[in-house]
Order: sequence, then structure tokens, then C-alpha cells
Amino acid sequence: MDDLRYQVDLLTAMNQKLTGNEKMYNMICEGSQRAFLYINYVTNSIKQIGKWENFGDFRLTDASDLSRLSEIFDESGESELRTLLFPEKENHFSDRADLLFSDKKTWIGVEVLVHMDETGLLSEKLICLNDVTAIKNRQEDLKYMAYFDLLTGLHNRNHFISKLKEFVERADVERAVVSVILLDVDDFHKISDARGIVVGDEVIQNIGLYIKTLENNNVIAARFDSDIFCIAVYDPVGSRSVDEIYGSVRGFLSVPIKLSDRTEVSVSVSAGVAEYPEANDNALSLINCAEIAMLKAKDAGKNNIKYFNSGMLDSFLRDVEIENKLKEAVHESNFFLNYQPQYYADSKRLRGVEALVRWRDRDGSMISPSVFIPLSEKNGTIISIGDFVLEESIKTHAAWKKRFDCNIILSINISSIQYNRADFVPKILDTVKRYGMDPEELELEITESVLIEDFKMVIQKMYELRDYGIKVSLDDFGTGFSSLSYLRGLPIDTLKIDKSFIDNISTDEAARVITESIVNMSKRLGFSTVAEGVESEEQLDYLKEISCDLIQGFYLGKPMDESGIQEILLRTI
Ligand code: C2E
Ligand code: CA
Ligand code: CA
Repeated sequence: MDDLRYQVDLLTAMNQKLTGNEKMYNMICEGSQRAFLYINYVTNSIKQIGKWENFGDFRLTDASDLSRLSEIFDESGESELRTLLFPEKENHFSDRADLLFSDKKTWIGVEVLVHMDETGLLSEKLICLNDVTAIKNRQEDLKYMAYFDLLTGLHNRNHFISKLKEFVERADVERAVVSVILLDVDDFHKISDARGIVVGDEVIQNIGLYIKTLENNNVIAARFDSDIFCIAVYDPVGSRSVDEIYGSVRGFLSVPIKLSDRTEVSVSVSAGVAEYPEANDNALSLINCAEIAMLKAKDAGKNNIKYFNSGMLDSFLRDVEIENKLKEAVHESNFFLNYQPQYYADSKRLRGVEALVRWRDRDGSMISPSVFIPLSEKNGTIISIGDFVLEESIKTHAAWKKRFDCNIILSINISSIQYNRADFVPKILDTVKRYGMDPEELELEITESVLIEDFKMVIQKMYELRDYGIKVSLDDFGTGFSSLSYLRGLPIDTLKIDKSFIDNISTDEAARVITESIVNMSKRLGFSTVAEGVESEEQLDYLKEISCDLIQGFYLGKPMDESGIQEILLRTI
């Protein structure tokens, strides 16, 4: 009897526990956003709990009718659902898939679990429905972000490279050409520096959206870095020839870009082109070759296009090598100075010297400043080189002064990179003071490239220097934008006519006319005029005839070391 009672108590307790668990399961299911469908094939009962109202309030009355679940889904997933609902047919215990809801917007994750009894017969099945639209969209976004540039909708670099590889593989079979065009917006940093990155982004977006319109099966485009675009063209002929594509981008940019703040920005692009198979047969190398050609287009004055050739690679590699060596040379102080005398044309008296920097490489070879100065401007070493020239030349000038008590002018070449630095004027003044130099004996040679920068700032610095008595000379005159009218407003003392005019005065009437009018105009504006690169007596005579004030050139004196100038000073003073 006791035994029976014990059994009853135990059963009651178990039942209570069971309903307790059931309650807990119900609470969990009702609390979640999922809908559950439980089928017990032994008792042939169905239980639906959870948020069925989220899923069309579907109700199932007969377990054998499970296929009716397809009613709530879009028909596109019908066959997938059919296999999904019966994993037991494939001897599986579970399965899952994301299916589109009948509203064609919502994605539903469907999970199916089955339970078999000991004899292997299907006993229970649980189906769980879950709205996975947000996750699915995020996955789509991530997929998009992995392949495309969000700002422009163009391909991103990686995706572009894999597409370019496909082009190259196809071209290999079909013996076709693939062109890679790399486009870089000219002076983009100036736009974003002056107008901010938001405007910069808008400019890039406008250009990108235009480039996107050029895309088709044979033309793909990407944005690489901030302002670099790349276009690959399969079989570039007819309307998709490189000239047509570059021409259309230029055409688009020939009118200023209108921005959302109602302002406008004018931009240009430089382009480099490399073609498969001529330039290279590897997608990444093609892009590199196009970049080298693009850099050449920049060097050639921007807003133009250059085609890659093997000579470009050689000079690029040489430049890279020199740039690297420059850093070592600055570290090891492998520079020294030469001085070239400058004479008064009429009396042939020494007016002064121009300091010219020299670099002897570790292996003893000399590298020309025409080669390394532009590279040092690119990698910033010009600042250290400029500091060295300033210090060394003023020190030497002070030593000559002490020894010969001479009054000669020291001309120093100044790069625009140096000139634009905030500490430029103080540094000059400090060095002049330290060596007790008479500022009237210092002349700074600048080129027109300085004037391209912030004009007001450039002029203000010139005034500051001249307030101290330091002279400013405009070097290589005639090679830049050569506008005579802007000269009028410039606070300069000296104008140096570029050697290219002097080279031709003996043979070319036009060069004579230009040289003569530069000398006349310079005189009228109150500047001294220097003719540089004078190599013959004939040139010298002509320059005297047209009253050019000063002469510099191999004919009267090549650049020489400090002791060479001392000999001249010994002779003449
Ligand atoms: P630049 O300022 O126009 O200097 C004149 C260049 O012409 C010098 O070349 C000089 O040696 C050369 N030259 C002078 N007379 C004659 C001549 O009669 N015939 C020929 N064929 N050449 C003549 P260099 O020394 O090779 O300098 C080349 C350029 O490198 C300079 O042109 C200047 O732009 C730059 N440079 C040289 N030294 C410095 C420097 O200390 N600082 C900076 N920023 N640039 C420098
Ligand atoms: Ca010079
Ligand atoms: Ca010059």
C-alpha cells in the first residue's frame, strides 16, 4: 500500500515538474519573436506557440498537411521549402534555410529539427520561424562593401583587380588588348585643404558617378585611393578606345563641378595608360605601369595623358633609387658647394657668385642637381639640403669678406618647398645675423613655381626680406607661365633670363627679339637683368649691345669650388 502511495506521490511530483517545464518553455517561446510548430507523430498532435501573428497567422490542423506551410512564403522558395520540411527523407535530423516571405521583402529563417524513436520511426518534429531580414540586409551591405566603393558606387580595388584578371585571361585566349587607365585628380589635396573633406568627397563623388556611366560589359571602373580612379577596357576600340574614354572624362571636367552648396570647383585629371600584353601580362603590374605613366603625366604639367613604355620604368626605378640614396646622403652630409661667378656686362667686374649644390655619391659619381633637386622636393629632403646650402654658403661668404674685405653678392637658390615654410624668413635672418653678413649682399633666387602658391603670402615674405635689405631674384625667367603683366606687382630686384633664350640668340631672330624685349621691360620696371648660360663671346657682345646688366655663364666662369673664387678675388681685389 505504502509502495503504491509512494508511486502516486512520485507521479504527481513528476507531473507537476512536467507542467512546470512546459510553462517555462511556453514563456520562453512567447517571449521570443520566433514562431514554433511542434508535431508529435506518436500522438498525432500539433502545437503552435510563439509569434505566429508575425508570420501570417498560419494554422495547421493536420500533421500530414505540413506542406501547406508554403502558403506563407514566396513561390520562389517553394521547392527548397519542400525538402527543408522533411529532412528525415534524406536521413538528416535537422536543416535550415532563409526563405523569402510572401510580402517579397521579409526574409524568414526556417529551422527544422526531427526526432526518431528507437526503431528509427519519425516521432517528433519542431519547426522554428525567425525574421532574419535585418541580418540578411546587413550581410548584403557587407557583401556590397566588400566589392564596391560606397562613395561612388564604383568597384573597389580588390574587386577591380579580380575583374581585370578575368579580362586578361579572356584576352589571352581571344588575343585581344586590355587597357588600364589610371586617373589621378590634379592637386586634389589643395581642394580638400581649402574647402574641407566634405567638399572633397563631393567632388570625388561627382567624378566617380560620371565614370560609372562609362561602365559596360567591356569597361569596368574603380576608385582606389582618395582621388585615384582606375578604368579597365577590354578590346579598346571605337567608342571605348582609350582616347574616347579619356576625352569624355576631360569633356565632363571641362565645365566646373557644381556642388550642393551652390559653389563650383574646377578640376582636371592626369592619366596613365598601360596595355596588355605590351606593357605586362599581370593585372597588378599593369596597374603599377599605368601609375608610373600617370606620374609622368603629372611631371609633364598635369591635365594630360601618357602611355607607359619600358623607358619610363627604367627612369622610375632610377628615381626611386636616387630618392632613397638622398636620405642617406642627407644623413651622411655628402653635399658640397660650387660657386659660379657673375659679372657686370660692361666692366666685366665681379658682381657676385651663385651657390650651386653638388652631390657626390658614395661610389664617387656625381649626381646633377637638375636630377636630385626635383626628387628632394618630392621626398622632403630639400629642407635639409636647403639648410646646408644656406649655412655653408653664408659661412664661406663671411670667410671671403674677412680675408679680402670684398663686397660681393651671394646668390642662393631657394626651392618653393623651402619658401612656403613658416620658418623660412626667420631662418634666413638668423643665419645672416649669426655670420654678421650684410643683408644687402644676399640675394635669394626663386622661380615662378613659388608664385603658384598663395600669392599674398609669397609677396608678403618678399617684402619682409626686402625690408631687411635682402635681394630677391626671379630665376629661369621665360620658362614658366611667362606672363609679363604680373611682373609689375612683384617686389623683386633681379630678373634672370633663362639659358634657353641665350642659347638661341646667335641663330634665332625670335630669341633675339624676346631677349631684347625682356631686357627693356626689366629695365623699365627697375630690375637688374642677368643673362645666364652665356657660352660665347658672340653672345656676350650681343647682350652688351642690348644693355643687359649682368652676365653669368661658362664663357666667363664655370661653377668652381671655394678656392677657385678665392683666386678670382685675389686677382681682382
Ligand atoms: P639654375 O639655378 O638655373 O643654375 C644654373 C645652372 O646652369 C647650373 O647648373 C649651372 O652650372 C649651369 N650653367 C651656368 N652657366 C652655364 C653655361 O654657360 N652653360 C651651361 N650649359 N650651363 C651653365 P647646375 O649647377 O647643374 O644646377 C642646375 C639647377 O639645379 C639649378 O639651375 C637650380 O635650379 C638647381 N640647383 C642647384 N643648386 C641648388 C640649390 O642649392 N638649391 C636649389 N633649390 N636648387 C639648386
Ligand atoms: Ca639659379
Ligand atoms: Ca636659372
